[in-house]
Amino acid sequence: MSESTLFKLKFWGTRGSIPCPGPDTVKYGGNTTCFEITCGSKRVLIDAGTGIRMLGKKIMIEEENFLDADLFFTHTHMDHIQGLPFFAPLYNPSSDVRLHAGHLSTNDDYDLSGIIGTMLMKDPVFPVPSSLIEKACSYSDYFVGHVFELGDGIVIRTGKLNHPNGACGYRIEFQGKAIAICTDTEHYDDRIDENVVALAKDAEVMVYDSAYTDEEYPKFKGWGHSTWQEAIKVAEAAGVKQTFLFHHDPSHNDEKMDQIAQEAAKKKKGVRPAVEGEEIIL
Ligand SMILES: [Zn+2]
Ligand SMILES: [Zn+2]
Repeated sequence: MSESTLFKLKFWGTRGSIPCPGPDTVKYGGNTTCFEITCGSKRVLIDAGTGIRMLGKKIMIEEENFLDADLFFTHTHMDHIQGLPFFAPLYNPSSDVRLHAGHLSTNDDYDLSGIIGTMLMKDPVFPVPSSLIEKACSYSDYFVGHVFELGDGIVIRTGKLNHPNGACGYRIEFQGKAIAICTDTEHYDDRIDENVVALAKDAEVMVYDSAYTDEEYPKFKGWGHSTWQEAIKVAEAAGVKQTFLFHHDPSHNDEKMDQIAQEAAKKKKGVRPAVEGEEIIL
């Protein structure tokens, strides 16, 4: 496959809620959410959980230590932004990283710039001010439903997810194929979420919030997350080819994840938990 047609997804962080590194999570990973999507010569990043630190390190060592990319946030809960101050390419003024969020545009009190600049990277929460990364990045708040065209035929569709404080799902289209990223989101009791189905329709790859099992879910109803059993329902409704269970709950160690992997594979072929560090070439 030539570089100009390469369409690849890499999981830099698969965990939800809080990082949980340690001997019990080495197989599926302990870092929180971060995706790198390569579309030919362009790069799309989704979320800046703690997994983004290692991506930054790779860019600094293996590449020319600057980055040209679009970084879309699903939302700004801590597990999706806390790696941003540790993303080394942002401290190189030659980088050009466009940060986008779609869950805040109808909120009068908050915007992305304010959340990064006055909450995350602001003393006494963090000693390095956001002004040190702002030569390398820009902020934009879009309205969910917006369609981004990034050139080279790359189209990013956005859709509303069901999550406290709001969240956006993404559908990345390139070379006639699609990757759907649907985290963090909670399913409905009485129907399959039409927004999620629209994002995932006939996608080669869907990543779906599977923080819980159906047995655990009643304890966490209303927390904004879903189950691996619901992932299968969405995959069937949308005709998805490969489904990755994602936003692993911190209480799910490798043994538990292996058990979920086995049960999910038995129920539907092509469904399995996402593994930190794994690359999927479409
Ligand atoms: Zn989360
Ligand atoms: Zn969240």
